[in-house]
Amino acid sequence: MEKIKMPNPIVEMDGDEMTRVLWSMIKEELIKPFVDLNTEYYDLSLPNRDATEDQVTIQAAEAIKRHHVGVKCATITPNLQRMEEYNLKQMWKSPNATIRAALDGTVFRAPILLSNVQPVVSCWKKPITIARHAYGDIYKAVEYRVPGAGKAELVFTDENGNETSRQTIFEFTGPGVIQGMHNRDASILSFARSCFTYALAVGQDLWFSTKDTISKDYDQTFKLLFQKVYEEEFQAQFEAAGLNYRYALIDDVAAKVIRSQGGIIWACKNYDGDVMSDLIAAASGSLPMMTSVLVSPDGNFEYEAAHGTITDHYRRYQKGEAMSSNPLATMAAWAGALKKRGELDGNEALMRFADCLNQAGIDVYEEGYFSEDLAMICQPGDYKEMPENSKMMALIRARLEELLTA
Ligand code: NAP
Ligand code: MG
Repeated sequence: MEKIKMPNPIVEMDGDEMTRVLWSMIKEELIKPFVDLNTEYYDLSLPNRDATEDQVTIQAAEAIKRHHVGVKCATITPNLQRMEEYNLKQMWKSPNATIRAALDGTVFRAPILLSNVQPVVSCWKKPITIARHAYGDIYKAVEYRVPGAGKAELVFTDENGNETSRQTIFEFTGPGVIQGMHNRDASILSFARSCFTYALAVGQDLWFSTKDTISKDYDQTFKLLFQKVYEEEFQAQFEAAGLNYRYALIDDVAAKVIRSQGGIIWACKNYDGDVMSDLIAAASGSLPMMTSVLVSPDGNFEYEAAHGTITDHYRRYQKGEAMSSNPLATMAAWAGALKKRGELDGNEALMRFADCLNQAGIDVYEEGYFSEDLAMICQPGDYKEMPENSKMMALIRARLEELLTA
């Protein structure tokens, strides 16, 4: 078979620990035999981030802006313990946070569903994607523990020093609490554009929810800015694609999602998205089965698995133990990036390969070969075997060859 050509590169960001091992297996055994793989490589492993003073992360983010598509392996976000373990010069920031800030992007998370692992919510047939606004609200709030009786006020002073608004929050007669939070139109507009861009890219309806009936200025601003972006920039494209945008109250959407078949994107404010993404992940199956893509408002895409570097598996692997780790979300990240590259370049062969890569992993699991995490929760009658990592790769490769020659 002739290898599939790839004239334009994707940005490849290598990572740490067990996922770095899986990364190279996927690349060497599942991709390179079939594709003339063209990547611009950045080593985001913790030792290299330390050696480059984290410049490598910034360079990778800049490269995504140039090539529009990236794929990232899980990386260690250092804490005190990691500083000692790796003898770091500094407690470097989370690479994901650095890249997200550079691209001004929104993260979309969707579970991978298998027919033989039932979601807790039995009517879910298609994934539910959560888009979380990752700026502001309570994550950048100012809080005050009120010690006793007194008046709390909300005051705004404009840039010229003129007080333009003063409202009483509450007249306390005893102790209590207050909180001041904010958001910026620019950030909400970027969030909205990322959501509409992603919905068009995957061909799914977009739902957005807040509590604007109660929050008549704050949440109302989110609702109005989304509506404005939709009408002025996206409505025509949505209608041409047969897609819907709907706004509803968050409690209404929560109830509707539980009774839906899935297959929608649910855009949430920061705190709502924090809660709902973990709820959807847990209710869909297992944590390792979550995919994640960062989308910038101007249409750059960075794909990754939502899980971390699986440190405990790596420690056991280093001692020579045969591990059974789940590669599906990392494979899905590669498949997502290759497919997007194919779409942008009109490269049908690459798009087809990406679909086959994704499907090959799912098929092997649906035949009853599970990694350890799922072997424990699949339908008992569907279980055949729990292959260790290299055997799992061989099974997936065999299936991939079948799909490619079909
Ligand atoms: P984790 O690596 O996601 O692992 C947590 C647990 O989930 C594992 O112990 C394992 O459970 C299970 N698991 C996760 N992925 C799996 C897979 N592919 N196959 C099988 N089981 C899997 O999270 P963590 O232990 O909290 O964090 C480890 C490191 O990853 C940290 O240094 C953190 O900074 C980093 N991290 C990076 C990212 C990222 O780059 N996006 C995200 C999160 C965390 P069992 O032990 O029960 O098998
Ligand atoms: Mg959370």
